[in-house]
Formats: sequence, structure tokens, C-alpha cells
Amino acid sequence: MVSQSPDIKITPEAPVRAPSAVPVDDAVLAFEVGALDLRGRLTRLGPALDEILHKHDYPPAVGKLLGEAIVLTTLLGSSVKFEGRFILQTRTEGPVSLLIVDFQAPDRLRAYARYDASRLKNGQSSGELLGKGHLAMTIDQGSNTSRYQGLVALDGGGLEEAAHEYFLRSEQIPTRVRLAVGEEMRGGEGGKLHWRAGGILLQFLPKAPERAKQADLHPGDAPEGTATHSVPDDDAWVEGQSLISTVEDVELIDPDLSGERLLYRLFHERGVRVFNPQTLRAQCSCSRDAVSSMLKSFAPNDRAEMVKDGKVVVTCEFCSSVYEFTPQEAGVE
Ligand SMILES: [Zn+2]
Repeated sequence: MVSQSPDIKITPEAPVRAPSAVPVDDAVLAFEVGALDLRGRLTRLGPALDEILHKHDYPPAVGKLLGEAIVLTTLLGSSVKFEGRFILQTRTEGPVSLLIVDFQAPDRLRAYARYDASRLKNGQSSGELLGKGHLAMTIDQGSNTSRYQGLVALDGGGLEEAAHEYFLRSEQIPTRVRLAVGEEMRGGEGGKLHWRAGGILLQFLPKAPERAKQADLHPGDAPEGTATHSVPDDDAWVEGQSLISTVEDVELIDPDLSGERLLYRLFHERGVRVFNPQTLRAQCSCSRDAVSSMLKSFAPNDRAEMVKDGKVVVTCEFCSSVYEFTPQEAGVE
């Protein structure tokens, strides 16, 4: 049998071509595997993640966890349209009590974490670092539209699990998420470590909704005594989950493996259609003017209490920028 060299799927919109070998960092790639009714996104982060995490002096475990939250945010938030905003936030009782990632469409990312250094131990999993609490996702599409908030409990699991739970309970879309974050040593710069991250989100979206019924959903308000029968996953979704489970962390963050090559490696037998990458950058939205207006919104007494050594100093929690005001500038009489 003559084996043909496999190609990216032929579609009317996207002509067949070989997957690009050029790795693109700081971007989200949307893709589609039509034969299996799968859609997904793949994120690769390099310099943008490094910039966000290096603005803070986080212990490596905290940086890695915040990196996971940033990747998850790009996978979920890159579908936000217009001037919208997607905010992912965890509040938990573990050593890392707060993670907040703010994605402002089309491309701006900022993030920070709060943690208790005395409770950090070697080898803690993401779930152990977070502890119990909740994960909130807020979509804000601008002043004239209502905000949407989705909530999911964190119960000792990590962010991947929380994302699965959210899509199962709230959206009822079969979903798998993989997140990976690591530090890479590059020569020639005094052996400085650079953060890298990658992630993939895969969803099963068949035209016939009954195919997306999931095995582990509760039977709901079925009358008592009704036999609960488990629904086997659709064959296409079984295949999709099995393919994504083969992705290794090193592949997700490999600086020399392009996102297109990785998708091709996973889905070439079924044909994968890849859309144009959406780039991302690290940029905070704070400014001296915004901080000044915020100060002026405080009660006079609160402003007066902020004066230390004859000045008011405000540090942005997202990017660590420091803004200094004289008492007069800060509106202190
Ligand atoms: Zn800032």
C-alpha cells in the first residue's frame, strides 16, 4: 500500500497546507476537528508570561500556579468580543488565597496572586496550594451590557478540574483542559530562567445535542425509583479525550515545537483546521490618572491616613508600578 503524506484537512475556507514549523509564542490558536465535532484552543505563552511573573518575586510554586490561571484565562477568555473583559479569580483558604487574572480583549493580560509564604511546602499540588473555596469567572462586555458571572467550587482539586466541573455543570459542554507551566533555562543570558506555559482546551460540540449527554451528570428530577442508567460517552468524544490525554507537559511548553505542529501531531488522522493566531501581550491598564481618581474617591479621613513620610504611595498589585503623590495631589487638606 502506498502511504500518502498526510495533510491538514481540506476545507473550502482554508486550503490544505503543511503545519507551520515556526513556533509562535504569546498567542492563542483556535482549531476545529470537523470529523469528530471537536473545537478547541491552544495557547502558548513565553515572553508575556515571563514579564507578568517577573514583576513579582513569587516563590516558584506560586508563579507556576498563577501561570496555570493565566493560561486557563486565555483559553476561556479569548472568545470575548469587542472591548470586553474576562476576569478569572480564585478565593480559597489554602496557602495561595487569591489568584486574579484580568484579560482585556483583544490582547491585554495582567495578573497577581496573594499567598502566605509560611504555609508553602515543597511538592504541593495546585489543588493543595489553592485549598477549598471557589473560582469565579466574570465576563464584562462593556458598560451597556450586563456582567455574567460563573462560579465553581474548588474542593482540593486544581484549575483543570475546576474547568471541567464548570463546563459539565453550567454549560453542559463536554470539555477537557490541559495546562502546563515551566521554567526554561536559556544560555547566553547568565543562565536566567524564563517562564513558559501552554494549554489546550477541547470541546465536543455535535449538531445533535443528545450526543453530548454526559455519563456523570445527575439524573435530575427523575421520579424516585427510576433506574439511573449511565450514558456512555459518544465515540467521537471518547476519541477526542483519548487524544488530548496523550499530550505531555513538555510538548505544551516546548519552545521549539510550533502550536500547529502539536495540533497536527494530535489530530492529523482526522484532519484539523487551524485558524489565525490571536496574539497576547502583558500590559497593565493602571495609570497615574486612574490612581489619582481612585484616591479622590476615598473619604477624606482615609486619604489622610495614607500619608506616610509626607507622601502618599500607591503600588499597583498587578504590575508593581509605584505611584507617588504629595498630600496636596492626593487631596489631603
Ligand atoms: Zn499596574
